[in-house]
Amino acid sequence: MGDRYASFANSDLGRTVVRRLGLPDPPRLRRHDPSAPLTPGPVLLGAASGGRLACPVRELLGRTGVDVSGAAEDGARYGALIFDATGIVDSAGLRALYDFFHPVARSVLGSGRVIVLGTAPEACGSPREATAQRALEGLVRSIGKEFGRGITAQLGYVAPGGEEALESTLRFLLSGRSAYVSGQVIRVGAGAVTAPADWARPLAGKVALITGAARGIGAATARVLARDGAEVIALDVPAAGDDLAGVANEVRGRALQLDLTAPDAPERLAAYLTGGVDVVVHNAGITRDKTLARMDAARWDSVLDVNLSSQERINDVLVERGLIGDGGRIVGVSSIAGIAGNRGQANYATSKAGVIGLVRSGAPVLADRGITINAVAPGFIETAMTARMPVLLREAGRRMNSMAQGGLPVDVAETVAWFASPGSGTVSGNVVRVCGQSLLGA
Ligand code: NAD
Repeated sequence: MGDRYASFANSDLGRTVVRRLGLPDPPRLRRHDPSAPLTPGPVLLGAASGGRLACPVRELLGRTGVDVSGAAEDGARYGALIFDATGIVDSAGLRALYDFFHPVARSVLGSGRVIVLGTAPEACGSPREATAQRALEGLVRSIGKEFGRGITAQLGYVAPGGEEALESTLRFLLSGRSAYVSGQVIRVGAGAVTAPADWARPLAGKVALITGAARGIGAATARVLARDGAEVIALDVPAAGDDLAGVANEVRGRALQLDLTAPDAPERLAAYLTGGVDVVVHNAGITRDKTLARMDAARWDSVLDVNLSSQERINDVLVERGLIGDGGRIVGVSSIAGIAGNRGQANYATSKAGVIGLVRSGAPVLADRGITINAVAPGFIETAMTARMPVLLREAGRRMNSMAQGGLPVDVAETVAWFASPGSGTVSGNVVRVCGQSLLGA
């Protein structure tokens, strides 16, 4: 399962060989470390004139304890560059991006962060402004591909009135929690949110259900949500009972053996969750790969049922019976295969594209009940699922992204935890890829 090439490339000998031969050079990514500061160096904060976010962002960064600088200094190195582009109202104004980023493009520290903040095109006051704001995507995605060294780049579209909810998103994007998230467009809506009392344990007092939690991404999600303070209910099929019990014990949570495709699964789950649930993570998933011409109906049906229909059935029962309510968080697990499609995975890609549909169609409906719904779309993650891939395909999956390596289950888990946070109350309807900016479907 381990990436031996990346370990070699990060050794003394490997570094020399990799550079001499011009081979892919996977950097060691900065991941969450509770004792480390939010960013590896100071933040340079810039703004186009008339921007509405620079002030609230400066205030918010002050609460995080990072050093913030308003003007670039010669020779300075930065842990993050943040640019408030909300003041850009036409294409001529895009020059402000060049003026800010060009002089400091080589000044970002390894595993540093670039964040551009804008207004979603659909919320802009004029076609010219919408055009300019849409253009930000091209800049951010290019920076993600150019800067290298584990530096990520994201675009945050923040609705007017979304300043308060921005804190949870900015903390996530600046931190090591977003190590394998790059080139993403994230929408933060307007409205008040309840900031966690303790940002180190934002899920304290919350109950989180994670499906498919016996191993891989689900097990990592159980660990991260427990670390963040949640009481975890880890669910998996009875056949995975031993591993499931191991995970549940490790996180001092509860194990629930249940096959999500059983006809009585929603009823049994509802009966189990009589005390209600705050966070539901639909992680359970299967693959049954074959080209469409060779695929039997059972492969199609089982993948669609586990990966998509079971999520719908469970959401329906939990919402209808009020078992998940105001402040609730639903997180689906999609895949970049659901965005790009994949040969031999028509069933899987259909189910995972369906998860995106579920998020997009569910967000406005659930907003009325104070519930958010989002999805993560993992790329190549080092798990049992990807360890089974043919070697050449596996190596291509690992290298064809801006980080030149596969992600870890914890990278997906951290992204789920950001969606789950009470501070992310106006982050809904998003599908965020955890793929190191994979070229597939980009
Ligand atoms: P995995 O196979 O290691 O784990 C999936 C878990 O889901 C297993 O423990 C399995 O027992 C459980 N499960 C399957 N059917 C179930 C059912 N009917 N009821 C209850 N539990 C059931 O997979 P993983 O790699 O950790 O992936 C987790 C999720 O992430 C899946 O939805 C997968 O499609 C998605 N994903 C993974 C990758 C990757 O690179 N590993 C990439 C994109 C998406």
